[in-house]
Amino acid sequence: MDLSIPYQLQNFIGGIWAAPSSDKYLDNINPATGEKWGEIPDSDAADIEAAVVAAKSAFLKWSVTPAEERFTILNRIATLIEENLEALALAETTDNGKPLWLSKRVDIPRASANFRFFATGIMHFSAESHSMEDKAINYTIRQPVGIVGCISPWNLPLYLFTWKIAPALAAGNCVIAKPSEVTPVTAYLLSRICKEAGLPDGVLNIVHGRGETCGEAIVKHPLIKAISFTGSTRAGAHIASVAAPMFKKLSLELGGKNPNIIFADCDWGKMMRTTIQSSFANQGQICLCGSRILVEASVYERFRKEFVEKVKALTVGDPLSDDSRQGALVSQLHFDKVRNSIAKAKEEGGIILCGGNAVKPEGRCRNGFFIEPTVIEGLGCECQTNMEEIFGPVVTLQSFSTEEEALQLANACNYGLSATIWSQDISKANRVGAKVEAGIIWINCWLLRDLRTPFGGIKNSGVGREGGWEALRFFTEARNICVEI
Ligand code: NAD
Repeated sequence: MDLSIPYQLQNFIGGIWAAPSSDKYLDNINPATGEKWGEIPDSDAADIEAAVVAAKSAFLKWSVTPAEERFTILNRIATLIEENLEALALAETTDNGKPLWLSKRVDIPRASANFRFFATGIMHFSAESHSMEDKAINYTIRQPVGIVGCISPWNLPLYLFTWKIAPALAAGNCVIAKPSEVTPVTAYLLSRICKEAGLPDGVLNIVHGRGETCGEAIVKHPLIKAISFTGSTRAGAHIASVAAPMFKKLSLELGGKNPNIIFADCDWGKMMRTTIQSSFANQGQICLCGSRILVEASVYERFRKEFVEKVKALTVGDPLSDDSRQGALVSQLHFDKVRNSIAKAKEEGGIILCGGNAVKPEGRCRNGFFIEPTVIEGLGCECQTNMEEIFGPVVTLQSFSTEEEALQLANACNYGLSATIWSQDISKANRVGAKVEAGIIWINCWLLRDLRTPFGGIKNSGVGREGGWEALRFFTEARNICVEI
């Protein structure tokens, strides 16, 4: 199919591509070159209203469409994503600045896997029944919530967008979805794919625009009954304050400041290889990256020397080149924020072991938003650098002497998204794992994902769980029917 990208993107409402009602557009910038490469609708409440009208009318039929039919359509979407991997990956890289090889290998295949997984999941989804011996039988029915809102961030644009949309559609809901205004193009291409796959008009509506206007209109709309949001803790707190008094279902996947706990008895080679990835994959712009590296004191010096050598060897450059391990940061705004965080770390007394500077690659990327991968030591838990999410290629090193101290450092900040633990003593690793305050804990690995497992953070990293049955439960409403026998 033809997935060419128009200079001016359009909203996808009721199966039709339309200009925003305001006729206003935002610039879309390629972060690797700093150049404008298109425009996106600056939508507002009027466009959300139009999307709700379309979704409401589509819901009557979609909510009672047999699961097998929904399965077939979602599977077709998955196949079309796979067949168009090259075009989607190139669009994502141009929007986001991440290396093209990463997009091809991880983001796009995982977006397809999301549709495949939930297409199949809905065929096996069941509800419970509880028998009260010879008195009564209770059975639960699970019905789609209705019209739901899905709002996603820029760091894994298509993957996180589909992570919400796929279970919502599989469960029989109609969706109003808003991708990040910073990375809108793969969501636009998904609208073309959904149309081609035969998804009925109005079942999925994709509206582009800013958070405070378009996103806010989704959260505030009284007919949108559930909000699935992934993004910053700041925006998540605001969304909760608007949606909670309206009694909407809420799933919030928010920021992280994840500890990576390294014990002396780990498999050193594997730990080192994975720690480079878990620190700097996607320029550190993965919510699950380990940004606080905690190393047992007896191996701290060895770790620091080897780690810094390896970080210095990471090539920063054109995301289209297979040799680039690090691409561009997503925007000028984010580039400035990360540079300010590095300056703050220095102010707080941090020692920059490597990196810290902007990079100006030769050629077409000379005006792009590139920063060297940065390693900082000498800062305690209480400083801003170790408390607040930077969401860039910046990690700090701290050392610990005992298991208790490792846990105290790991649990010192207000986030609780994920943690990684490295030790060949499996009892110790499990013991520590059970006490780390995080929703997702990896032992001797990182970013291994089984889509059946509940996914999400605790503390300031969010509420609700996505993934597997949790997502299908979130996008359905349970009703219990009690029958006396
Ligand atoms: P962001 O909060 O600025 O924006 C996320 C999305 O929310 C965007 O689509 C934005 O337009 C929209 N938005 C912003 N304000 C809104 C409002 N008031 N009402 C409705 N919508 C609004 O986050 P970002 O900068 O795009 O993404 C980076 C953040 O996302 C980081 O904090 C990162 O940790 C987090 N993240 C979390 C996960 C997770 O699974 N926990 C995954 C990826 C990213």
